[in-house]
Amino acid sequence: MSLAHLVIFGRPGSGKSSLAERLGADFGYRLIRTGELLREAVRRQDSLGRQVESQLKAGQLVPDDLIGTLLETNLVAGNQERLIFDGFPRTLGQVAILERIEERCQLSIDAYVDIHLSLELAARRMTGRRVCPKCAATYHLINRPPRVAERCDHDGIMLISRTDDSAEVVAIRQQIYEQHSGPLLAHYRQTMGAKFQEIDGSGTFAEVYQSLCRHLGLVG
Ligand code: AMP
Repeated sequence: MSLAHLVIFGRPGSGKSSLAERLGADFGYRLIRTGELLREAVRRQDSLGRQVESQLKAGQLVPDDLIGTLLETNLVAGNQERLIFDGFPRTLGQVAILERIEERCQLSIDAYVDIHLSLELAARRMTGRRVCPKCAATYHLINRPPRVAERCDHDGIMLISRTDDSAEVVAIRQQIYEQHSGPLLAHYRQTMGAKFQEIDGSGTFAEVYQSLCRHLGLVG
């Protein structure tokens, strides 16, 4: 196993967060999930949380400068852990933020992976999505059910639906993804060569996970 730091891209419902979690559990990655960090800030009602609450509820992107500050406070130089960035970068403006993080924390991203899924399939998948309000583990009622119905595998807490998983907000989030992902992925496709990989996300969780591990050279 050779890879260190990863970025995982994918539209809402592509399964990227579940895949990142599983990679974290199997290979010891620390997940850097901007969405979860923002939801935590909202739960704490700190100054960032109060600033971003309405944007999260509406499915709108949080301004790039706030994302930069959020990551600066969560990533320190001299980090020894292997990281997966999930949900960041999301805009071309955030590409520069990631570059600054790489420089400041002396880390370099080894692979950029896009989990590719059609809008139709993703929308269907999102209706069954559940999350743990305590540890943020992600489940799906059909594709990735918890061991005990509606309870988190890790802490037994009752699972919930995210408030921004309602049909109207999902439609907005998909629209925003369409708007930003084209230029963002084109940038990495053009500049990163073999470090950029696209993976078909339409199979079962197990199939996609296996394909992801194979692409990353994590299994033979
Ligand atoms: P996620 O959990 O990745 O689906 O993100 C949930 C919400 O958090 C998004 O709909 C945005 O409102 C916000 N968010 C998460 N990551 C970012 C980011 N990198 N840039 C801007 N907004 C973000």
